Amino acid sequence: MFYEDDCIFAKFPLDPCDHLRANENELTKLMTHKRSRYVLYQNGQAAMDINDLSKPYFLNHEIILDFSLTEKIFLGKDDDHAYFAVETPDQHALANHIQFLDLRLIAHNACEKGYSKTPSLLARGKMLLDWHNRHRFCANCGVKTYGHKGGYVRKCEGCGSEHFPRVDPVVIMMVTYKDKCLLGRGPHFRKGVYSALAGFMEPGETIEEAVRREVLEEAGIEIGDVQYVKSQPWPFPSSLMIGVVGCAINDDICLDDELEDAQWFSKQQISKVISSGGDDQFRLPPKLAIARHLLEFWLYSD
Ligand SMILES: [Zn+2]
Repeated sequence: MFYEDDCIFAKFPLDPCDHLRANENELTKLMTHKRSRYVLYQNGQAAMDINDLSKPYFLNHEIILDFSLTEKIFLGKDDDHAYFAVETPDQHALANHIQFLDLRLIAHNACEKGYSKTPSLLARGKMLLDWHNRHRFCANCGVKTYGHKGGYVRKCEGCGSEHFPRVDPVVIMMVTYKDKCLLGRGPHFRKGVYSALAGFMEPGETIEEAVRREVLEEAGIEIGDVQYVKSQPWPFPSSLMIGVVGCAINDDICLDDELEDAQWFSKQQISKVISSGGDDQFRLPPKLAIARHLLEFWLYSD
């Protein structure tokens, strides 16, 4: 069943080769190897093959010499190639061969065709490049930092501090009460879309505590048991969505300002909208969202 599949952006397809990150000689050799492949990004979008937009347009090291580039991120290896991620501000280069696409669109297209590992490969490059762009100066002393260890560390030129890529954990919960589930909509959602409640974890919280706090704050519902279901990397810019089912103790909804609306829905209503695709009154989040996986997990479980 669908809910048993991996979420899009999950299952990184390469061996990340942690042991090579600190080996500068080996990394330099790989960077200039004729079989090495470069994934090109621009403004957070990935270069895809204009003849098949489901495939990245990989570049070799000779072609990327023509670009002004930011960091070179070592993504890892498969049986045949080493992979790097690079970003360029240059416009119009390779315009006849590539099209830069947003990762949401790439993920959406992959979901329509069935599961693909391409979004996961592209997501890691995007997350690391975003992190480098936003951490050029040391948070400790303010001096410039530089990329190190294949792009998995930034080191300070001043105080020598090492900074590591960050991931922001978000809890996303299918709240259930007897045979119904709670879905809400934010003010910026597409018309009719209702989805699982979600929120960033706060320092010092467990997943269970974050789930209970968020649902109480947003909808006035108390949560008892919390069951982990699955997680999803979310590269906008760098979150980890932690998907759970939370059992509600009460069903009296009391909204705060974050949600425009929240309602309880029956399994019959959810099944019906999955079959019909929904309308401007009620539709579900797209298949690329972990919220959709959680809904189907609940729907098909006893
Ligand atoms: Zn410093």
